[in-house]
Amino acid sequence: MSRNTKQVPKEEIIKQLETCDIVRQLLAKKPKERKALVDTYGCQQNEADSEQICGMLSQMGYGFTDNVEEADLVLLNTCAIREHAEQRVFGNVGALVHSKRRNKDKIICVCGCMPQQEYVTEKIKRSYPHVDLVFGTHKLWQFPSLLLSVLQNKKRVFAIEDEGGRVAEGLPVLRKFSYKASVPIVNGCNNFCTYCIVPYVRGRERSREIEDIVREVKDLVNGGCREITLLGQNVNSYGKDLEKAKDFSDLLIALAQLDGDFLIRFMTSHPKDASDKLFAVMEQYPNKIAPQLHLPVQSGSTRVLTAMNRGYTREKYLELIRQVRARIPDITLTSDIIVGFPGETQEEFEETLSLIELVEFEALFTFVFSARKGTPAEHFEDPMPIVQKKENFQRLLDVQNEISERKHAEYIGKTLRCLVDQIDEKGNVIARTPGGRRVHLEKDCGKLGEFVDVSITNASKWSLFGVIQK
Ligand code: SF4
Repeated sequence: MSRNTKQVPKEEIIKQLETCDIVRQLLAKKPKERKALVDTYGCQQNEADSEQICGMLSQMGYGFTDNVEEADLVLLNTCAIREHAEQRVFGNVGALVHSKRRNKDKIICVCGCMPQQEYVTEKIKRSYPHVDLVFGTHKLWQFPSLLLSVLQNKKRVFAIEDEGGRVAEGLPVLRKFSYKASVPIVNGCNNFCTYCIVPYVRGRERSREIEDIVREVKDLVNGGCREITLLGQNVNSYGKDLEKAKDFSDLLIALAQLDGDFLIRFMTSHPKDASDKLFAVMEQYPNKIAPQLHLPVQSGSTRVLTAMNRGYTREKYLELIRQVRARIPDITLTSDIIVGFPGETQEEFEETLSLIELVEFEALFTFVFSARKGTPAEHFEDPMPIVQKKENFQRLLDVQNEISERKHAEYIGKTLRCLVDQIDEKGNVIARTPGGRRVHLEKDCGKLGEFVDVSITNASKWSLFGVIQK
């Protein structure tokens, strides 16, 4: 397939921008400013999508509010990764019926990964008649014309067709923060891990052109952005679908060579596609590429990894860890683990425990397996009782907590260049180490988005504590 078939033509984007103006003129006839509430669920990719949605809403003349009653438009950008999250969305969509009864003109939209599943759209059609607009991940760039259709025709609109997933450049973005930003580099996934719904709801991998990403990052850096997180379900397969032979390492080099004081992070890496070439680039640009690697292993058993269709073995994973530590000894390593994958035996769980003891991650994101409708693992035999799974889960947590506490203690006495990341209304300040760990600073110190040298004075299993060096 030629590269051009994957990009939304410029004229189509211009049409959407013109539609923004038409909606703006329509809204200008209303007596007061229209306000939107955008509620985002799930991962950072969804957060990034919401920033585009807000960009389009702003261009259409909407202001923003957190108050449902005050909102003229409520949009739920949903996540399909876990059933629990879906139930929560359905609950929230249901609750909006009261608000809609009080204001018949209120527009309710549901978008994101959930509607990409047929049963969800059918359920909304049948059981939630107060929802006006439903669109899937492939239709996001058409939001202005979909909304205009709802406003003009006063009819419900459902747009969830999979277009083979194209890349849309040039849409407006309204960023939540000025000092940090997420930049999607590849959307969708080709891996079909047997437990995961992502390939079904976000389609096949589509990489953005390297020039478009470099331009966006350059603009961000010139605008004062200090931390840029490159996003993709599998960043390591970036560029495989591009005509020009560019891979993730080439992209990192191009970004690291930009002028300015900023740090690049990325997520998520897939062990199947991670390589020593990537680690060499990270080693080469220590001031621009964060010494941080989130490398989801999921299980320490090769048999379970094969059943998950992960495409690597326990040995290959451990070799990657050896390679990256050889190049960047103080790299911050984190990972994901699924406990109780269907068919996992007690011995196989013990292999996972032994792997985390061998690697010593600084933190783990751990889950007890729960089947997602529409994935192959939904039909796998699952003989291990849930009580046993929960017991294993607790053992895993206990072992990891002890490792995290020990790893964090190693920071005490070090001085690190950290980015001031959060200051709450009580004056509590949190900074991030280059490896992405949270550091609690003294109250009312530092400025949001500035790099400061921090001496680490204390540590717990969750966090670090420090003071800014004057
Ligand atoms: S790599 Fe696997 S787990 Fe990750 S998004 Fe793709 S299918 Fe899902």
